[in-house]
Amino acid sequence: MEFVTLNNGVEMPVLGFGVYQVTDLEECERSVSDALSTGYRLIDTASAYGNETAVGKAIKKSGIKREDIFLTTKLWVQDAGEGKTRNAFNKSLKNLGLEYIDLYLIHQPYGDIYGAWRDMEALLKEGLVRAIGVSNFESDRLIDLILHNEVKPAVNQIETHPFNQQIAAHDFMKENDVQQESWGPFAEGKHDIFTNALLAGIGKKYNKSVAQVILRWLIQRSIVVIPKSVKKERIEQNFDVFDFSLSGEDMDQIVSLDLKTSSFFDHRDPDMVKWLGTRKLT
Ligand code: NAP
Repeated sequence: MEFVTLNNGVEMPVLGFGVYQVTDLEECERSVSDALSTGYRLIDTASAYGNETAVGKAIKKSGIKREDIFLTTKLWVQDAGEGKTRNAFNKSLKNLGLEYIDLYLIHQPYGDIYGAWRDMEALLKEGLVRAIGVSNFESDRLIDLILHNEVKPAVNQIETHPFNQQIAAHDFMKENDVQQESWGPFAEGKHDIFTNALLAGIGKKYNKSVAQVILRWLIQRSIVVIPKSVKKERIEQNFDVFDFSLSGEDMDQIVSLDLKTSSFFDHRDPDMVKWLGTRKLT
């Protein structure tokens, strides 16, 4: 496995496994078990995914040493705020059956994120979390959080795939020493991504699938990536991306696919801010 070093010195695997929309808890536990036995050591979940308990069970059953696993979970909007965030963190710890979390992210840039950040800074100082960061923060929100707080986010997890490459956001994060992490590396299958002619053509040269080309492209851009699959064969395929390198020409060609806009929704759309901001976890 290759690692990136976060701005506080913590090492994070460059490839991990995501469990968004894996709501069947048995399927989630089995998929995480398959991922861990394949060699994945970074697992990405969230309180909003409702599957922290299943992730925790798979980690426990794996017998892998705790320090060899990098676990990320996320704070939901309703729990952003001083005091509330600590309680939500404790609930996640309990659900996961862990004593600490490797990376705790603010899931959405809404609500009392400054109150949340103060709690997260305290959790970091107490050693209950090894790194803190954000998700879905556009560059204006990111710089504001950086400027007005003591601890800089270590990571910003944002939608990043060939149809939304985030080149400007990537440069901004680099300048500010914040690690970019891609969510939705396959755009969840949108744009007929798995049969895209350009990506398939590049894959053919290396005897690799479109999925493998995309993961390799992200890793070569120094972006951490967390593909999701519930199928063992795909879980294995998505991990098998360290025995080839895309050429400079391949990397340049992939730039031509960029539509420079979200394939899902705009985090600044008032309807979405309202929809996400009023969604309550039970
Ligand atoms: P994704 O990884 O882009 O795509 C997952 C889809 O691709 C699934 O339908 C999966 O189907 C399919 N797939 C996976 N590997 C494949 C392969 N080798 N060949 C063909 N199809 C393949 O989507 P995502 O789950 O949204 O993103 C990944 C992770 O990012 C999430 O699980 C989550 O941890 C994180 N995320 C975070 C946010 C956020 O707001 N922070 C938002 C979305 C996602 P099967 O499962 O049937 O194989």
